[in-house]
Amino acid sequence: MTARATEFPIAIIGAGFGGIGMAIQLKKRGIESFTMFERAAEVGGTWRDNTYPGAACDVPSHAYSLSFEPNPNWSRKFSPSQEIQSYLLGLVEKWKLRDHLRLGTEIREARFDDRSGTWTLRTDKGDSFTARVVISAVGGLVDPQYPAIAGIDSFRGEKMHTARWNHDYDLTGKRVGVIGTGASAIQVVPAIAAKVGHLEVFQRTPAWVVPKLDGRYSARARELFARYPLLLRLSRGFKYWMSELFGPMIFLDAPRLSAIGERMSLKHLEAQVKDPELRRKLTPHFQFGCKRILVSDDYWATFERDNVDLVCEGIREIRAEGILTSDGVLHQLDAIIFATGFELGLAKAPFPVYGLDGRSLDAAWSAGAVAYKGMTVSGFPNWFILMGPNTGPGHTSVLVYTEAQISHALQAIGKLRDEHLKYVDVRQDVQDRYNERIQGRMKYMVWPSCSSWYLSPDGSNHSLYPGFAFEYAAGARNFHPAEYRLATFESDQRTTTADAA
Ligand code: NAP
Repeated sequence: MTARATEFPIAIIGAGFGGIGMAIQLKKRGIESFTMFERAAEVGGTWRDNTYPGAACDVPSHAYSLSFEPNPNWSRKFSPSQEIQSYLLGLVEKWKLRDHLRLGTEIREARFDDRSGTWTLRTDKGDSFTARVVISAVGGLVDPQYPAIAGIDSFRGEKMHTARWNHDYDLTGKRVGVIGTGASAIQVVPAIAAKVGHLEVFQRTPAWVVPKLDGRYSARARELFARYPLLLRLSRGFKYWMSELFGPMIFLDAPRLSAIGERMSLKHLEAQVKDPELRRKLTPHFQFGCKRILVSDDYWATFERDNVDLVCEGIREIRAEGILTSDGVLHQLDAIIFATGFELGLAKAPFPVYGLDGRSLDAAWSAGAVAYKGMTVSGFPNWFILMGPNTGPGHTSVLVYTEAQISHALQAIGKLRDEHLKYVDVRQDVQDRYNERIQGRMKYMVWPSCSSWYLSPDGSNHSLYPGFAFEYAAGARNFHPAEYRLATFESDQRTTTADAA
């Protein structure tokens, strides 16, 4: 390694799955010159924040973990949130990442200096940090979204969002309302139903639910996975390829395929709910896959309980005593749980980011977030995004995408260091062509046919990848210099293979 290479500071912003995965891969390559910035007091991202009763991953554990850090010890086929957080904390200790961490430090602004080829990151502490490369691993679904319901602040009881659970509040015997019927709600509802006095679930849109088929891994199974890593790899591979096989049923606008999923879900509903009127209310009206497919063995069955009611009338307002619905009924409540999702982080830059010639990322994204393969944005050199625009899956583990992005960024870092380049900046024409293709494919996908957090207010989709995970990963994992403008210190000119061609 040259002296110059050892002076190659890298900033990782965010210490969730993406940031931790990136840090491990840097360590594996002997690169120690990185700093991780995390605004919260601990690492973990989603799995630090989502601690509500029943919180778990709806992607199988063996697939929802880093392929380069397999874990034979998952207790269940679908891991509880706490166990995933323990896994991440274990990785931080194993790879001694604490030495690189600046917890409780929020980046407030990033600015690129063309002359030195460095990014200056300004923190909320008033200090700044200079980096040659920035890995933006801030996550897409982080900040809780509270609905715009009149009177929301007037409620006198306990109010909490699923992603900000108040563990000091005892729900035992209480009258509780849950607003929302998405992926978080269907986990929290069955988990608290037996404990609360009375539970009312306020449903605006019924969702498609399929069986989870969850279960414990026996001690023997875990022992076998530990002793024979190949078994664990086979289990992971099986789950991954099964999700790819079912993928088109979930992401394509193909009514015949959707009908297969819908039939499976309706059979599940029939098995769980005896009352035809209740079944009717719980039956979705949108095409399978248009919103996230929910996975649960006990959500629908919870409505069979005497102390649980489904409320389908719209919410008119929230009052001091509870929720007033459009039929004029005031539902008296002790606590309201908002299972109402997240602000879409990708709707804008996470903080002001200024690239070449002072251009702002928010301006570059004014018509929607775009990036080459969801990772790099023209005019923002040496800036790599993990879980960026159009890299979310509706059908499989997001980590497949993240690992490809980590590989791409690592190769770019290798190129920058080995060839003493000042920066790499994705070519505008390459980025534009890529995004035209991505947006062109959207018309074959099911997502435009209903409203969901996947869509921007104008109906465009800058969240999900329209295709298979293997397809994305194969195209994204390698860094191709010809797709980038490569600037050197020596000539100080932004020459590229393409410019030269
Ligand atoms: P979500 O999918 O956005 O669901 C929010 C729910 O709140 C929807 O049912 C929505 O109804 C309802 N809602 C919003 N505003 C409302 C209002 N004013 N009145 C009544 N209802 C209202 O949020 P989420 O369940 O937290 O899930 C978000 C994403 O997080 C998921 O799609 C997934 O990507 C991720 N997640 C993953 C897991 C996992 O296991 N891997 C678990 C939880 C979450 P409408 O449908 O009518 O808008």
